[in-house]
Amino acid sequence: MKFVQIQEALGDARLQNAIYSATARMAEGRRIRVAEMPDEFQELRQRAHDIKQHTLDHIDEYLEELERNVVARGGHVIWANTGKEASDFIVDLARQRGVNLIVKSKSMTSEEIHLNDALESNGIETVETDLGEYIIQLAHEKPYHIIAPALHKTIGQVTEILQAPADSTAEQLTALARAKLREKFLQAGIGITGANFLIADSGAVVVVENEGNARLSSSAPRIHIALAGFEKVIPRAQDLEVFLRVLARSATGQKLSVYTSFLAGPRREGEPDGPDEFYLVLLDNGRSRVLADRNKRHSLACIRCGACLNHCPVYRKIGGYSYPWVYSGPIGKILTPHFIDAPWLPFASSLCGACAEVCPVKIDIPKILLELREEAPKSRAEKLAMRMFAWVMTHPRIYEKFSWVRRMKKLPAAGPLKAWLEQRDLPDLPQRSFREQWRDRR
Ligand code: SF4
Repeated sequence: MKFVQIQEALGDARLQNAIYSATARMAEGRRIRVAEMPDEFQELRQRAHDIKQHTLDHIDEYLEELERNVVARGGHVIWANTGKEASDFIVDLARQRGVNLIVKSKSMTSEEIHLNDALESNGIETVETDLGEYIIQLAHEKPYHIIAPALHKTIGQVTEILQAPADSTAEQLTALARAKLREKFLQAGIGITGANFLIADSGAVVVVENEGNARLSSSAPRIHIALAGFEKVIPRAQDLEVFLRVLARSATGQKLSVYTSFLAGPRREGEPDGPDEFYLVLLDNGRSRVLADRNKRHSLACIRCGACLNHCPVYRKIGGYSYPWVYSGPIGKILTPHFIDAPWLPFASSLCGACAEVCPVKIDIPKILLELREEAPKSRAEKLAMRMFAWVMTHPRIYEKFSWVRRMKKLPAAGPLKAWLEQRDLPDLPQRSFREQWRDRR
């Protein structure tokens, strides 16, 4: 973990309040919606889980079907093995078409591959059009939460970032950003969106949002590029009903998001709007590794609702910038070790299980965390210590011989335990063990 960021987050009362109140609001919204349909919601979760599991188990077939249908509708599919391949394709296309302004709607996949940096370093202006992302971009920061990128900003900070009058209201700030972004939509040559779902049997890209900026990004510019991890594919349009109902409820406590756009290829003859060209960039960037591991494959079922972050006692204390990669919270802990060198990340969890209880696609995050812990490289000393610990704990008579440890009251923060104990406050050790008390009673 990023210890400096953790210390800063823990020591910043304003930030703690911002994280707590925003995540609590979203969690409460979810609670209310689920309470309206408790049994049905659990059934929907199970169906969402089953559809995702089935799709991941047959993903090669569904991706081929998706490609056939995108091409049949006049679109192009680009398979990108790495983030660089995806960025290079987009940069080259912009150059070939003489585009020097791109509008983007919110996409964590584009954050994952640092797409903005690649475009900007090639002289292509790139403007985020989701309000939270726009604020974060102007502040030169990264998203703090997968669905609420500017969750950590106060209205005062946003006023400063947007260079608005000091007494601006939230509505005035929104109107100001809206006016600036309108011009960009009209000038941009390419619009980039992410994708919440890719429908194999129709070749449609489904984008779910609340602001309408994704709809504008995909229809106002001449060229639309949808960038998505290949795991976003689902078999049929009928499956969407399940996901749309659990996604909005789990994310923000809405019954349905405000806009659900079905984007299928370029504008056809007779259609009043839409792009002239459409490209779907399907990104691997390490996903095949996760897919190949049957036990952890279901990590790819994530629909990025953010509910696990909102309910995670660790995320709610340390915030989004304490994690080493773009995906934070519980889902970040099971995805990140497959993508960057962070085998220690799964250990940063209390394993309370709140994430698994709320996940709309029933990803068993604690189980995957334990598997990742098991696989994490360990030093010989650590392995030996764990073996000894296991031996002592499974031999009651030997265990009792260590009762002197309790008389120390506190473990000494020295030797090999020093670094570990510096980060933790352990409770005082009890003077009499359970076994001793049990014996006395009998
Ligand atoms: S792991 Fe589950 S709860 Fe967390 S963001 Fe993904 S879908 Fe939502």
